[in-house]
Amino acid sequence: MTVFRLLVLLLAWCGLAHAEPAGITLSLADDNALTVQYRFPAGASTLRFAMQDAQAWELVRKPHWRVLEDCAVLEPQGLRRRSLQGCEVATVRVEPGLLRLDRRFEPAQSLGDGALALHTRYYAVQGEDPAARWIVRAPAGGTAFWLGQERPGGGEALVPAPASGLQAQIDDTTVVLSRRPFEQWHGLRALVADLPEAQRREIRAAAEALLAEYRHSFGALAFEPLLLAAGRSRAGAPFAAALLDPRLRGDDAAVGILPRGDVQDGTVRMTLEYSGKMGDRGRGALRVFLAHELFHLWHGRRFHAAGEAWLGEGNADWIALNTLHRMGWMNDSVYVLLLEQAFNECAAGIGPQPWRSAPQRQAGTLPYRCGLAFQAMAFEAARREGNSTAPLDQWRAILSGAGAVDEAAFFSWYGRADFGGARLDALRALLAGDAPFAPGLPAAMRAAGVSFDLAPSLSWMPPACGSKAAAIQVNCVDAPSVPGGYIHLGVIGSAKSRVEIRQ
Ligand SMILES: [Zn+2]
Repeated sequence: MTVFRLLVLLLAWCGLAHAEPAGITLSLADDNALTVQYRFPAGASTLRFAMQDAQAWELVRKPHWRVLEDCAVLEPQGLRRRSLQGCEVATVRVEPGLLRLDRRFEPAQSLGDGALALHTRYYAVQGEDPAARWIVRAPAGGTAFWLGQERPGGGEALVPAPASGLQAQIDDTTVVLSRRPFEQWHGLRALVADLPEAQRREIRAAAEALLAEYRHSFGALAFEPLLLAAGRSRAGAPFAAALLDPRLRGDDAAVGILPRGDVQDGTVRMTLEYSGKMGDRGRGALRVFLAHELFHLWHGRRFHAAGEAWLGEGNADWIALNTLHRMGWMNDSVYVLLLEQAFNECAAGIGPQPWRSAPQRQAGTLPYRCGLAFQAMAFEAARREGNSTAPLDQWRAILSGAGAVDEAAFFSWYGRADFGGARLDALRALLAGDAPFAPGLPAAMRAAGVSFDLAPSLSWMPPACGSKAAAIQVNCVDAPSVPGGYIHLGVIGSAKSRVEIRQ
Protein backbone atom coordinates (compact mmCIF):
# COMPACT_ATOMS: atom_id res chain seq x y z
CA MET A 1 0.00 0.00 0.00
CA THR A 2 1.40 3.36 -0.93
CA VAL A 3 1.68 6.16 1.55
CA PHE A 4 -0.75 8.12 -0.57
CA ARG A 5 -3.43 5.40 -0.46
CA LEU A 6 -2.92 5.01 3.27
CA LEU A 7 -3.41 8.74 3.69
CA VAL A 8 -6.61 8.62 1.70
CA LEU A 9 -7.88 5.74 3.81
CA LEU A 10 -6.95 7.52 7.01
CA LEU A 11 -8.71 10.67 5.88
CA ALA A 12 -11.77 8.70 4.96
CA TRP A 13 -11.73 6.93 8.31
CA CYS A 14 -11.30 10.23 10.18
CA GLY A 15 -14.11 11.68 8.12
CA LEU A 16 -16.40 8.87 9.22
CA ALA A 17 -15.34 9.03 12.84
CA HIS A 18 -15.98 12.74 12.94
CA ALA A 19 -19.11 12.78 10.84
CA GLU A 20 -21.41 15.54 11.93
CA PRO A 21 -24.23 14.07 13.97
CA ALA A 22 -27.86 14.98 13.48
CA GLY A 23 -28.80 18.17 15.28
CA ILE A 24 -32.02 19.07 17.09
CA THR A 25 -32.50 22.69 18.17
CA LEU A 26 -35.42 23.57 20.44
CA SER A 27 -36.74 27.11 20.66
CA LEU A 28 -39.87 29.13 21.29
CA ALA A 29 -41.49 30.81 18.28
CA ASP A 30 -42.69 34.41 18.55
CA ASP A 31 -46.24 33.19 19.07
CA ASN A 32 -45.08 30.65 21.70
CA ALA A 33 -45.39 27.57 19.51
CA LEU A 34 -42.45 25.19 19.67
CA THR A 35 -39.86 25.31 16.91
CA VAL A 36 -37.70 22.25 16.32
CA GLN A 37 -34.88 22.56 13.80
CA TYR A 38 -33.51 19.28 12.52
CA ARG A 39 -30.07 19.25 10.96
CA PHE A 40 -29.44 16.32 8.60
CA PRO A 41 -26.03 14.68 8.73
CA ALA A 42 -24.23 14.71 5.37
CA GLY A 43 -25.47 11.85 3.21
CA ALA A 44 -28.58 11.13 5.26
CA SER A 45 -31.91 11.58 3.55
CA THR A 46 -34.06 10.56 6.52
CA LEU A 47 -34.00 11.19 10.24
CA ARG A 48 -35.91 8.33 11.80
CA PHE A 49 -37.86 9.11 14.97
CA ALA A 50 -36.94 7.23 18.11
CA MET A 51 -40.64 6.98 19.01
CA GLN A 52 -42.59 5.53 16.10
CA ASP A 53 -45.80 4.14 17.52
CA ALA A 54 -49.16 4.82 15.95
CA GLN A 55 -50.30 7.21 18.68
CA ALA A 56 -47.23 9.39 18.26
CA TRP A 57 -48.15 9.76 14.59
CA GLU A 58 -51.93 9.93 14.72
CA LEU A 59 -52.35 12.04 17.85
CA VAL A 60 -49.16 14.07 17.99
CA ARG A 61 -47.15 14.56 14.80
CA LYS A 62 -49.79 14.34 12.08
CA PRO A 63 -52.19 16.88 13.61
CA HIS A 64 -49.75 19.21 15.40
CA TRP A 65 -46.47 19.25 13.47
CA ARG A 66 -45.82 21.20 10.28
CA VAL A 67 -42.61 21.37 8.24
CA LEU A 68 -41.98 24.98 7.25
CA GLU A 69 -39.73 24.32 4.23
CA ASP A 70 -40.78 22.58 1.03
CA CYS A 71 -37.59 20.59 0.83
CA ALA A 72 -38.55 18.12 3.58
CA VAL A 73 -41.62 16.03 4.39
CA LEU A 74 -42.96 14.59 7.59
CA GLU A 75 -43.67 10.86 7.49
CA PRO A 76 -44.78 8.39 10.19
CA GLN A 77 -41.26 7.00 10.54
CA GLY A 78 -39.33 10.22 10.33
CA LEU A 79 -38.41 13.42 8.57
CA ARG A 80 -37.25 12.99 4.96
CA ARG A 81 -35.52 15.52 2.78
CA ARG A 82 -36.32 15.46 -0.91
CA SER A 83 -32.72 15.71 -2.03
CA LEU A 84 -29.35 15.22 -0.42
CA GLN A 85 -28.19 18.55 -1.78
CA GLY A 86 -30.79 20.78 -0.19
CA CYS A 87 -32.41 21.21 3.15
CA GLU A 88 -29.51 20.84 5.49
CA VAL A 89 -31.87 22.10 8.17
CA ALA A 90 -35.62 21.49 8.25
CA THR A 91 -37.82 23.44 10.63
CA VAL A 92 -40.82 21.84 12.31
CA ARG A 93 -43.44 23.99 13.95
CA VAL A 94 -45.29 22.24 16.78
CA GLU A 95 -48.62 23.55 18.05
CA PRO A 96 -48.83 23.23 21.82
CA GLY A 97 -51.75 21.23 23.16
CA LEU A 98 -52.76 18.81 25.85
CA LEU A 99 -52.63 15.10 25.01
CA ARG A 100 -54.19 13.92 28.29
CA LEU A 101 -53.21 10.30 27.73
CA ASP A 102 -52.55 7.81 30.47
CA ARG A 103 -48.86 7.18 31.12
CA ARG A 104 -47.78 9.45 28.30
CA PHE A 105 -45.77 12.60 28.73
CA GLU A 106 -47.21 15.75 27.20
CA PRO A 107 -45.41 16.43 23.88
CA ALA A 108 -45.68 20.24 24.07
CA GLN A 109 -47.73 22.01 26.69
CA SER A 110 -48.17 25.77 27.10
CA LEU A 111 -47.56 27.11 30.57
CA GLY A 112 -49.41 30.39 30.37
CA ASP A 113 -48.25 33.09 28.00
CA GLY A 114 -44.62 32.68 27.01
CA ALA A 115 -43.60 29.33 28.43
CA LEU A 116 -43.72 25.78 27.21
CA ALA A 117 -42.78 22.33 28.48
CA LEU A 118 -41.93 19.63 25.96
CA HIS A 119 -40.90 16.03 26.21
CA THR A 120 -37.87 15.15 24.10
CA ARG A 121 -38.90 11.54 23.40
CA TYR A 122 -41.31 12.72 20.69
CA TYR A 123 -38.54 14.68 18.94
CA ALA A 124 -35.57 12.34 19.42
CA VAL A 125 -34.15 10.56 16.38
CA GLN A 126 -32.47 7.19 16.07
CA GLY A 127 -28.73 6.84 15.69
CA GLU A 128 -26.20 5.97 18.32
CA ASP A 129 -22.98 6.80 16.57
CA PRO A 130 -22.73 9.66 16.51
CA ALA A 131 -25.76 10.45 18.65
CA ALA A 132 -27.89 13.44 17.79
CA ARG A 133 -26.79 16.70 19.32
CA TRP A 134 -29.42 18.72 21.15
CA ILE A 135 -29.36 22.49 21.43
CA VAL A 136 -31.74 24.33 23.73
CA ARG A 137 -32.31 27.98 22.90
CA ALA A 138 -33.55 29.82 25.97
CA PRO A 139 -35.78 32.82 25.08
CA ALA A 140 -34.07 36.20 25.37
CA GLY A 141 -34.29 37.44 28.94
CA GLY A 142 -35.98 34.20 29.94
CA THR A 143 -34.72 30.81 30.94
CA ALA A 144 -34.59 27.13 30.02
CA PHE A 145 -34.47 23.98 32.14
CA TRP A 146 -33.50 20.38 31.43
CA LEU A 147 -32.02 17.53 33.46
CA GLY A 148 -31.72 19.70 36.56
CA GLN A 149 -29.82 22.43 34.73
CA GLU A 150 -31.05 25.93 34.17
CA ARG A 151 -29.97 28.41 31.54
CA PRO A 152 -31.05 31.83 32.82
CA GLY A 153 -30.76 35.02 30.78
CA GLY A 154 -31.46 33.42 27.41
CA GLY A 155 -29.09 32.10 24.81
CA GLU A 156 -28.10 28.81 23.32
CA ALA A 157 -26.85 25.76 25.17
CA LEU A 158 -25.54 22.54 23.74
CA VAL A 159 -26.82 19.59 25.75
CA PRO A 160 -25.35 17.40 26.85
CA ALA A 161 -21.68 17.98 26.38
CA PRO A 162 -20.67 15.09 24.09
CA ALA A 163 -19.49 11.99 25.95
CA SER A 164 -21.03 13.15 29.21
CA GLY A 165 -23.12 9.98 29.33
CA LEU A 166 -26.38 11.88 29.36
CA GLN A 167 -27.52 11.03 25.83
CA ALA A 168 -30.02 8.42 26.93
CA GLN A 169 -31.49 10.95 29.30
CA ILE A 170 -31.63 13.96 27.01
CA ASP A 171 -33.44 11.77 24.48
CA ASP A 172 -36.14 11.13 27.08
CA THR A 173 -36.73 14.05 29.39
CA THR A 174 -38.68 17.26 29.90
CA VAL A 175 -37.33 20.57 28.61
CA VAL A 176 -38.85 23.89 29.65
CA LEU A 177 -38.53 27.11 27.64
CA SER A 178 -39.78 30.24 29.39
CA ARG A 179 -39.75 33.94 28.59
CA ARG A 180 -40.13 34.77 32.27
CA PRO A 181 -37.75 33.67 35.01
CA PHE A 182 -38.84 30.91 37.38
CA GLU A 183 -40.28 31.81 40.76
CA GLN A 184 -38.05 30.89 43.65
CA TRP A 185 -39.94 29.01 46.33
CA HIS A 186 -38.40 27.48 49.39
CA GLY A 187 -36.22 24.70 47.99
CA LEU A 188 -38.02 24.73 44.68
CA ARG A 189 -38.16 26.60 41.40
CA ALA A 190 -41.67 27.11 40.09
CA LEU A 191 -43.57 28.19 37.02
CA VAL A 192 -47.27 28.60 37.68
CA ALA A 193 -49.75 29.60 35.01
CA ASP A 194 -53.46 30.17 34.68
CA LEU A 195 -54.39 29.48 38.29
CA PRO A 196 -56.36 31.73 40.64
CA GLU A 197 -54.31 33.32 43.38
CA ALA A 198 -55.86 31.18 46.13
CA GLN A 199 -54.92 27.92 44.41
CA ARG A 200 -51.47 29.22 43.59
CA ARG A 201 -50.93 29.96 47.29
CA GLU A 202 -52.36 26.60 48.24
CA ILE A 203 -49.98 24.77 45.92
CA ARG A 204 -47.00 26.74 47.15
CA ALA A 205 -47.76 26.17 50.82
CA ALA A 206 -48.42 22.46 50.33
CA ALA A 207 -45.39 21.88 48.08
CA GLU A 208 -43.00 23.68 50.42
CA ALA A 209 -44.27 21.81 53.48
CA LEU A 210 -44.19 18.42 51.75
CA LEU A 211 -40.71 18.94 50.35
CA ALA A 212 -39.43 19.93 53.78
CA GLU A 213 -40.97 16.76 55.21
CA TYR A 214 -39.51 14.57 52.48
CA ARG A 215 -36.09 16.16 52.83
CA HIS A 216 -36.25 15.48 56.52
CA SER A 217 -37.22 11.83 55.99
CA PHE A 218 -35.29 10.99 52.82
CA GLY A 219 -32.41 13.45 52.56
CA ALA A 220 -31.69 16.32 50.19
CA LEU A 221 -32.13 16.07 46.43
CA ALA A 222 -29.15 16.43 44.12
CA PHE A 223 -30.51 19.73 42.79
CA GLU A 224 -33.43 22.05 43.26
CA PRO A 225 -36.41 20.72 41.30
CA LEU A 226 -38.74 22.69 39.05
CA LEU A 227 -42.48 22.60 39.67
CA LEU A 228 -44.70 23.38 36.68
CA ALA A 229 -48.34 23.99 37.50
CA ALA A 230 -50.80 24.93 34.81
CA GLY A 231 -54.48 25.48 35.40
CA ARG A 232 -57.35 25.02 33.02
CA SER A 233 -60.66 26.51 33.97
CA ARG A 234 -63.50 24.09 33.40
CA ALA A 235 -66.25 26.32 34.69
CA GLY A 236 -69.57 24.61 34.20
CA ALA A 237 -68.09 21.52 32.59
CA PRO A 238 -68.82 18.22 34.30
CA PHE A 239 -65.88 16.36 35.72
CA ALA A 240 -66.47 13.04 34.05
CA ALA A 241 -63.11 11.65 35.08
CA ALA A 242 -63.54 12.87 38.62
CA LEU A 243 -66.63 10.71 38.95
CA LEU A 244 -64.42 7.69 38.40
CA ASP A 245 -61.82 8.74 40.91
CA PRO A 246 -62.85 8.07 44.48
CA ARG A 247 -60.49 10.72 45.75
CA LEU A 248 -62.47 13.33 43.93
CA ARG A 249 -65.96 12.08 44.50
CA GLY A 250 -68.66 14.09 46.17
CA ASP A 251 -68.42 17.86 46.11
CA ASP A 252 -65.24 17.82 44.13
CA ALA A 253 -66.91 16.18 41.20
CA ALA A 254 -68.91 19.38 40.74
CA VAL A 255 -66.61 21.99 42.25
CA GLY A 256 -62.92 21.33 42.65
CA ILE A 257 -59.93 20.08 40.81
CA LEU A 258 -58.96 17.31 38.48
CA PRO A 259 -55.18 16.96 38.63
CA ARG A 260 -52.84 15.18 36.24
CA GLY A 261 -49.12 15.04 36.56
CA ASP A 262 -45.80 13.55 35.61
CA VAL A 263 -42.34 13.73 37.11
CA GLN A 264 -38.97 13.13 35.55
CA ASP A 265 -35.41 14.30 36.14
CA GLY A 266 -36.35 17.00 38.62
CA THR A 267 -39.32 18.40 36.73
CA VAL A 268 -42.74 18.01 38.31
CA ARG A 269 -45.52 18.86 35.91
CA MET A 270 -49.08 19.32 37.13
CA THR A 271 -52.12 20.20 35.09
CA LEU A 272 -55.06 21.17 37.25
CA GLU A 273 -58.42 21.38 35.64
CA TYR A 274 -60.61 23.25 38.02
CA SER A 275 -64.02 24.75 38.39
CA GLY A 276 -65.34 27.00 41.09
CA LYS A 277 -63.65 27.51 44.41
CA MET A 278 -61.52 24.94 46.12
CA GLY A 279 -63.10 23.64 49.30
CA ASP A 280 -61.74 21.30 51.94
CA ARG A 281 -62.21 18.23 49.78
CA GLY A 282 -60.50 19.89 46.86
CA ARG A 283 -57.66 20.85 49.16
CA GLY A 284 -57.40 17.26 50.38
CA ALA A 285 -57.32 15.92 46.85
CA LEU A 286 -54.67 18.46 45.87
CA ARG A 287 -52.51 17.50 48.84
CA VAL A 288 -52.76 13.77 48.10
CA PHE A 289 -51.88 14.47 44.49
CA LEU A 290 -48.96 16.77 45.31
CA ALA A 291 -47.60 14.41 47.95
CA HIS A 292 -47.63 11.60 45.38
CA GLU A 293 -46.01 13.59 42.56
CA LEU A 294 -43.36 15.25 44.71
CA PHE A 295 -42.24 11.95 46.15
CA HIS A 296 -41.37 10.74 42.66
CA LEU A 297 -38.48 13.22 42.88
CA TRP A 298 -36.87 10.88 45.38
CA HIS A 299 -37.36 7.92 43.05
CA GLY A 300 -35.13 9.37 40.36
CA ARG A 301 -35.17 6.82 37.56
CA ARG A 302 -35.07 3.81 39.84
CA PHE A 303 -38.59 2.61 39.10
CA HIS A 304 -38.58 4.00 35.59
CA ALA A 305 -36.70 1.12 34.03
CA ALA A 306 -38.22 -1.53 36.24
CA GLY A 307 -41.33 -2.14 34.15
CA GLU A 308 -44.16 -2.92 36.55
CA ALA A 309 -46.12 0.28 37.08
CA TRP A 310 -47.42 -0.71 40.51
CA LEU A 311 -43.98 -0.46 42.11
CA GLY A 312 -43.33 3.25 41.58
CA GLU A 313 -46.95 4.39 41.64
CA GLY A 314 -47.88 2.29 44.64
CA ASN A 315 -44.80 3.44 46.47
CA ALA A 316 -45.49 7.13 45.78
CA ASP A 317 -49.06 6.63 47.05
CA TRP A 318 -47.90 4.68 50.10
CA ILE A 319 -45.31 7.29 51.10
CA ALA A 320 -47.75 10.11 50.35
CA LEU A 321 -50.46 8.63 52.57
CA ASN A 322 -48.12 7.94 55.45
CA THR A 323 -46.51 11.37 55.19
CA LEU A 324 -49.83 13.20 55.04
CA HIS A 325 -51.02 11.18 58.01
CA ARG A 326 -47.88 11.98 59.95
CA MET A 327 -48.17 15.67 59.14
CA GLY A 328 -51.71 15.70 60.43
CA TRP A 329 -53.05 16.53 56.97
CA MET A 330 -54.95 13.27 56.72
CA ASN A 331 -57.03 11.82 59.52
CA ASP A 332 -57.43 8.14 60.35
CA SER A 333 -60.72 7.69 58.57
CA VAL A 334 -59.54 9.06 55.23
CA TYR A 335 -56.34 7.04 55.53
CA VAL A 336 -58.32 3.88 56.14
CA LEU A 337 -60.84 4.69 53.46
CA LEU A 338 -58.16 5.14 50.81
CA LEU A 339 -56.51 1.85 51.77
CA GLU A 340 -59.80 -0.02 51.71
CA GLN A 341 -60.61 1.43 48.33
CA ALA A 342 -57.19 0.35 47.12
CA PHE A 343 -57.80 -3.31 48.01
CA ASN A 344 -61.34 -3.32 46.75
CA GLU A 345 -60.69 -1.58 43.48
CA CYS A 346 -57.62 -3.66 42.79
CA ALA A 347 -59.54 -6.92 43.30
CA ALA A 348 -62.53 -5.75 41.30
CA GLY A 349 -60.43 -4.18 38.57
CA ILE A 350 -58.20 -7.17 37.90
CA GLY A 351 -60.93 -9.72 38.63
CA PRO A 352 -60.32 -13.39 37.97
CA GLN A 353 -57.55 -12.90 35.42
CA PRO A 354 -54.05 -13.88 36.47
CA TRP A 355 -52.17 -10.74 37.47
CA ARG A 356 -49.50 -11.23 34.81
CA SER A 357 -51.96 -11.41 31.97
CA ALA A 358 -54.13 -8.47 33.06
CA PRO A 359 -53.13 -5.49 30.90
CA GLN A 360 -55.00 -3.09 33.16
CA ARG A 361 -52.35 -3.60 35.84
CA GLN A 362 -50.15 -1.22 33.85
CA ALA A 363 -52.61 1.57 33.11
CA GLY A 364 -55.36 3.74 34.51
CA THR A 365 -55.89 3.78 38.26
CA LEU A 366 -54.99 0.15 39.00
CA PRO A 367 -51.20 0.58 39.25
CA TYR A 368 -51.96 3.07 42.04
CA ARG A 369 -54.64 1.06 43.80
CA CYS A 370 -52.96 -2.33 43.54
CA GLY A 371 -49.55 -0.87 44.25
CA LEU A 372 -50.82 0.81 47.39
CA ALA A 373 -52.47 -2.44 48.51
CA PHE A 374 -49.30 -4.49 47.94
CA GLN A 375 -47.16 -1.95 49.77
CA ALA A 376 -49.55 -2.04 52.71
CA MET A 377 -49.42 -5.85 52.71
CA ALA A 378 -45.64 -5.84 52.69
CA PHE A 379 -45.56 -3.40 55.55
CA GLU A 380 -48.13 -5.38 57.51
CA ALA A 381 -46.19 -8.62 56.95
CA ALA A 382 -43.06 -7.01 58.39
CA ARG A 383 -45.00 -5.57 61.31
CA ARG A 384 -46.57 -8.95 62.12
CA GLU A 385 -43.11 -10.47 62.10
CA GLY A 386 -42.10 -8.03 64.80
CA ASN A 387 -40.34 -5.45 62.65
CA SER A 388 -41.05 -2.06 64.20
CA THR A 389 -39.56 0.12 61.43
CA ALA A 390 -41.99 2.81 60.27
CA PRO A 391 -43.02 2.89 56.57
CA LEU A 392 -40.96 5.97 55.74
CA ASP A 393 -37.88 4.52 57.40
CA GLN A 394 -38.24 1.24 55.54
CA TRP A 395 -38.28 3.09 52.26
CA ARG A 396 -35.45 5.40 53.17
CA ALA A 397 -33.34 2.25 53.52
CA ILE A 398 -34.60 0.69 50.27
CA LEU A 399 -34.17 3.88 48.25
CA SER A 400 -30.69 4.49 49.61
CA GLY A 401 -29.48 1.69 47.33
CA ALA A 402 -28.47 2.32 43.75
CA GLY A 403 -30.04 -0.32 41.50
CA ALA A 404 -33.42 -0.31 39.81
CA VAL A 405 -36.23 -1.30 42.17
CA ASP A 406 -38.01 -4.05 40.30
CA GLU A 407 -40.39 -6.71 41.59
CA ALA A 408 -37.55 -9.05 42.52
CA ALA A 409 -35.82 -6.30 44.51
CA PHE A 410 -39.08 -5.42 46.27
CA PHE A 411 -39.73 -9.01 47.31
CA SER A 412 -36.17 -9.77 48.26
CA TRP A 413 -36.24 -6.77 50.57
CA TYR A 414 -39.57 -7.52 52.17
CA GLY A 415 -38.92 -11.28 52.12
CA ARG A 416 -35.95 -10.88 54.43
CA ALA A 417 -36.28 -12.77 57.69
CA ASP A 418 -36.17 -9.52 59.67
CA PHE A 419 -38.96 -8.09 57.49
CA GLY A 420 -42.00 -10.00 56.25
CA GLY A 421 -40.18 -13.27 55.64
CA ALA A 422 -42.39 -16.07 54.31
CA ARG A 423 -45.51 -14.02 55.01
CA LEU A 424 -45.12 -12.36 51.63
CA ASP A 425 -44.55 -15.53 49.62
CA ALA A 426 -48.23 -15.85 48.75
CA LEU A 427 -48.37 -12.35 47.27
CA ARG A 428 -45.18 -12.95 45.36
CA ALA A 429 -46.54 -16.19 43.92
CA LEU A 430 -49.87 -14.55 43.08
CA LEU A 431 -48.13 -11.83 41.06
CA ALA A 432 -45.81 -14.24 39.28
CA GLY A 433 -48.13 -17.18 38.61
CA ASP A 434 -51.25 -18.12 36.67
CA ALA A 435 -53.69 -18.23 39.58
CA PRO A 436 -56.86 -16.15 39.29
CA PHE A 437 -56.05 -12.85 40.97
CA ALA A 438 -59.16 -11.73 42.86
CA PRO A 439 -59.84 -15.09 44.55
CA GLY A 440 -56.15 -15.37 45.43
CA LEU A 441 -55.87 -11.94 46.99
CA PRO A 442 -57.67 -12.64 50.31
CA ALA A 443 -55.42 -15.65 50.92
CA ALA A 444 -52.34 -13.58 50.17
CA MET A 445 -53.64 -10.88 52.49
CA ARG A 446 -54.25 -13.40 55.25
CA ALA A 447 -50.77 -14.84 54.79
CA ALA A 448 -49.29 -11.35 55.03
CA GLY A 449 -51.22 -10.74 58.21
CA VAL A 450 -53.72 -8.23 56.90
CA SER A 451 -56.94 -8.83 58.75
CA PHE A 452 -60.26 -8.25 57.11
CA ASP A 453 -63.88 -9.14 57.49
CA LEU A 454 -65.38 -11.00 54.63
CA ALA A 455 -68.98 -11.93 55.21
CA PRO A 456 -69.48 -15.66 54.44
CA SER A 457 -72.26 -14.92 51.97
CA LEU A 458 -70.02 -12.79 49.84
CA SER A 459 -67.64 -13.80 47.16
CA TRP A 460 -65.29 -11.83 45.00
CA MET A 461 -66.72 -10.22 41.94
CA PRO A 462 -67.99 -12.95 39.66
CA PRO A 463 -66.66 -12.81 36.11
CA ALA A 464 -70.11 -12.43 34.61
CA CYS A 465 -70.66 -9.16 36.40
CA GLY A 466 -67.23 -7.87 35.62
CA SER A 467 -67.24 -4.50 37.27
CA LYS A 468 -68.25 -2.80 40.44
CA ALA A 469 -70.88 -0.83 38.57
CA ALA A 470 -72.38 -4.03 37.14
CA ALA A 471 -72.30 -5.80 40.46
CA ILE A 472 -74.59 -3.33 42.14
CA GLN A 473 -77.15 -3.62 39.40
CA VAL A 474 -80.02 -5.97 40.20
CA ASN A 475 -79.86 -7.66 36.82
CA CYS A 476 -76.36 -8.87 37.38
CA VAL A 477 -77.57 -12.27 38.57
CA ASP A 478 -74.43 -13.39 40.34
CA ALA A 479 -73.95 -10.14 42.18
CA PRO A 480 -73.64 -10.23 45.94
CA SER A 481 -77.02 -9.43 47.44
CA VAL A 482 -75.90 -7.27 50.33
CA PRO A 483 -76.66 -3.53 50.34
CA GLY A 484 -74.11 -1.88 48.13
CA GLY A 485 -73.17 -5.26 46.75
CA TYR A 486 -69.52 -4.54 47.19
CA ILE A 487 -67.08 -6.35 49.37
CA HIS A 488 -65.83 -4.38 52.27
CA LEU A 489 -62.44 -5.27 53.61
CA GLY A 490 -61.72 -4.28 57.15
CA VAL A 491 -58.05 -4.18 56.23
CA ILE A 492 -57.05 -2.14 59.19
CA GLY A 493 -60.22 -2.19 61.13
CA SER A 494 -62.77 0.53 61.45
CA ALA A 495 -61.49 4.03 61.18
CA LYS A 496 -62.17 5.05 64.73
CA SER A 497 -60.98 2.12 66.73
CA ARG A 498 -58.45 -0.11 65.09
CA VAL A 499 -56.03 1.68 62.85
CA GLU A 500 -53.10 -0.65 62.76
CA ILE A 501 -51.16 0.35 59.71
CA ARG A 502 -49.71 3.69 60.54
CA GLN A 503 -46.70 5.43 61.91
ZN1 LIG B 1 -47.03 8.75 39.94
